[in-house]
Amino acid sequence: MSKISCDTCLDLIPLVKDGVSSQDSRKLVEDHIETCPECKEVYLESKQIELEDLEIDYDGALNKIKRKLYALAGFILIIGSLVGVSLNDSENMFYNILIMPLLGGVAYLVFAKKAFIMSIFIFIITFIRQATYGYLEGFLTNSTEILQEATPISIVFVMFFFVGIVILKLLNIAIYGGKENRK
Ligand SMILES: [Zn+2]
Repeated sequence: MSKISCDTCLDLIPLVKDGVSSQDSRKLVEDHIETCPECKEVYLESKQIELEDLEIDYDGALNKIKRKLYALAGFILIIGSLVGVSLNDSENMFYNILIMPLLGGVAYLVFAKKAFIMSIFIFIITFIRQATYGYLEGFLTNSTEILQEATPISIVFVMFFFVGIVILKLLNIAIYGGKENRK
């Protein structure tokens, strides 16, 4: 027979769950539920709910926010670099000295160290846009011309993109004392 009654066991279960019960109480509950299926069910159920709550409150919400943030940043990078490279065909191309570092800053804020990988992304978008535009407009007629025209511009864009990352990194060091506070 168990040393405690079902009522006592049910009173103690929440305390055991919250980790505020004494060792003795925990032992009494554990002994009781070994022999009492009804109390065991209550015990297991409350454990289940506790775990589900944790997952929903923390991981679920955080991952949702992260995914939305990543999607938003990806969208900004695509649109930003397309707008930037389109400006190349007008006298507004010098706005890219501002636009590309801004994109680098956004990438660093959202992707942290992975922002450097995003520079490949910027290179590809810039290159494809410049190559197709030049080809369709007829001033780039073969692959050599495309390479010679589109590569330097893409490299310059990536360099300005890097400037944005470096500025944000320096700001991060200045504010947080160089500790990596972000993931
Ligand atoms: Zn019981």
